Amino acid sequence: MSHALVLNATFEPLQIVTWQRAMQLLFQGKVEVVEESDHEIRTVRFSMKVPAVLRLLTYVPLNRKKQIVRFSRSNIFVRDANKCQYCGHKFNKSHLTLDHVIPVVQKGEKNWENIVTACKPCNQKKGGRTPAQAGMALIKKPRRPMWLPATTVAMGVAVTPDRWKIYLKLERQNIQEGITGDESDDID
Ligand SMILES: [Zn+2]
Repeated sequence: MSHALVLNATFEPLQIVTWQRAMQLLFQGKVEVVEESDHEIRTVRFSMKVPAVLRLLTYVPLNRKKQIVRFSRSNIFVRDANKCQYCGHKFNKSHLTLDHVIPVVQKGEKNWENIVTACKPCNQKKGGRTPAQAGMALIKKPRRPMWLPATTVAMGVAVTPDRWKIYLKLERQNIQEGITGDESDDID
């Protein structure tokens, strides 16, 4: 019962907080309860269910640094399960590179949707071309992960509570391990 998941006003996962902080947000009128947990707190005056999932009543714009899954080299490898997104083979990290799907020279941006894991030979073969220009198809469309299960672990929650899962869209993820909150490999 120790933690609650906080969603943005748009239902996007934002943060994990302690249940005490969850209660504080609730009493401050900043959030609404989306899902209750099974746990109850009782005082002399009242008893209530501890919230499992809360939603902010006011939208909080996120800058990239505050995203719950950090945009970093390691996390891109984790999202792509260490697989080259062109040939589909799995490699040791030391043999992997990051590829701009739309190349920088063609104004491709540095974000989750335009950076993928690629092995060195595929990256070299593709060069400064788009997948279409190079005749190389991506094995899947790159997205910003809403959540990676190990993020939960990194935040001290051993098991992702069932009531969170629908909001974390975990069914869309097939990533098991290796997420990092380490700032040293951020991409800027
Ligand atoms: Zn490859």
